[in-house]
Amino acid sequence: LPKIMIVGRPNVGKSALFNRLTHRREALVYDTPGAHVTRDVREGIAKLAGLRFKILDTAGLETFTEDESILARTATITANALGKCQIALFLVDARAGMQPQDMDVGRWLRKTAPHVKVVTAVNKAEGIHNDSSGRLMAAIGEAHQLGFGDPVPISAESGEGMADLYDSLRPLVEEAQEEIEKDRGGVQEIKEEDVNAKALPLQLAIAGRPNVGKSTLVNALLREERVLTGPEPGLTRDSISSEFEFNGKKVRLVDTAGWLQRVQVKEGPAALSAMHARKGVMMAHVVALVVDGEEVANTRSSMRHAEAALARWVVQEGRGLVIVVNKMDLLSGKENAKIRADVMKAVPAEIQTILPQVSGVPVVFVSALEKKGGAAIMRNVFECYEKWCTRLTTAQLNRWLRKVMSRHPKNMSGIKYGPKVKFMTQVKARPPTFVVFVSGSGELEETDLRFLASAMREDFGLDGVPLRILQRSTK
Ligand code: GDP
Repeated sequence: LPKIMIVGRPNVGKSALFNRLTHRREALVYDTPGAHVTRDVREGIAKLAGLRFKILDTAGLETFTEDESILARTATITANALGKCQIALFLVDARAGMQPQDMDVGRWLRKTAPHVKVVTAVNKAEGIHNDSSGRLMAAIGEAHQLGFGDPVPISAESGEGMADLYDSLRPLVEEAQEEIEKDRGGVQEIKEEDVNAKALPLQLAIAGRPNVGKSTLVNALLREERVLTGPEPGLTRDSISSEFEFNGKKVRLVDTAGWLQRVQVKEGPAALSAMHARKGVMMAHVVALVVDGEEVANTRSSMRHAEAALARWVVQEGRGLVIVVNKMDLLSGKENAKIRADVMKAVPAEIQTILPQVSGVPVVFVSALEKKGGAAIMRNVFECYEKWCTRLTTAQLNRWLRKVMSRHPKNMSGIKYGPKVKFMTQVKARPPTFVVFVSGSGELEETDLRFLASAMREDFGLDGVPLRILQRSTK
């Protein structure tokens, strides 16, 4: 298996991340500043959504001298271990911000193991998307300056960001796996199909209450579209059984077993405490929320409390959302035309009420039983996914920003507008996340941010996906 070493100064949460990735419960905290524990590098097998690798934890080994540089002796132990790794997971702390010691670790990494690929993860970033202070987002910007590419905000404690971490690690782990196999002489030349097949799969969660037809839908999707491929490097058997292709693109059903067998989504807030449900949503790029069309026809409401809560939660977590109205076969025929039309109007209207901030969530009407609508679901899922991956350049954004501010109701009505919007930049995709820099006194109000988000949706065709716009003052 490929080897990944977690590196970072003390107290950034290396052990917590190790425990999460190896699914250990123990609360051993080695990450105490100043602790001089001499011990070996901890090693374990990590599983991250079907990706498997060896993980090494250096917590407790990093010792810094008085001038804050890494002490030679322990650094040697770590360096030896690092030399046998293909990847380093460079962990920094969003709450503390970048420290001189982080820079030291970065320099040390470059010097000691230039062959090792580095992924920077910014830990303790739980709640980053609701952080109005912008402090956590600023830490991501600082982590950029370490020079190891796009940092991934995560929380080893809460599990947030694990899907993004997976996305960053997967290509590196697969590449490392191939290298290992080539060294063994086991793998021939990479064929062209393999190169295409290496594109990351879209992670799809099928969510919904019991009996709405999730299993039937999954079976329909897998049976129709599935292509059998051999085991892939770094993937467990389990995860392969739920992978399929749509129009040549890979799709992975996330934690399907959890959704289908273990999750009893109850009415009320209990729905949100279903651990596996949470995990499924967190690991997903897009969530297909299945509702029962016949029930909608009977009750005139597509969303029970639990479903509405789940839909809101999916958007709050920044995942793409597609609503699937199933069992439409029960509403077929001329005699049902009126009911059918009502249902097709009622669901989008209700979604709009539940999620007023995200207009244009796609709604697809299908029959899983008759295997009708699978392609329509997947088309919408991929469309949603592409929007979710959108990257806009800073130049593009600012040209747009100047234009759109002149359209702002406050400027239109001639009121002198308080906080001046200076410029805007996209800090990450998946979901598209932007920071507007504001100068002067005061902050943009919620309504201003909503105005920007909805204008952005319209002008860049980003309807139906969660957008995040944060503000920072340039003072
Ligand atoms: P799950 O609990 O959401 O996984 O639901 P299941 O897939 O087990 O389906 C529950 C019941 O609904 C089963 O009796 C299915 O045969 C039925 N069902 C699922 N999809 C459809 C559909 O499109 N049309 C009809 N008429 N029945 C369906």
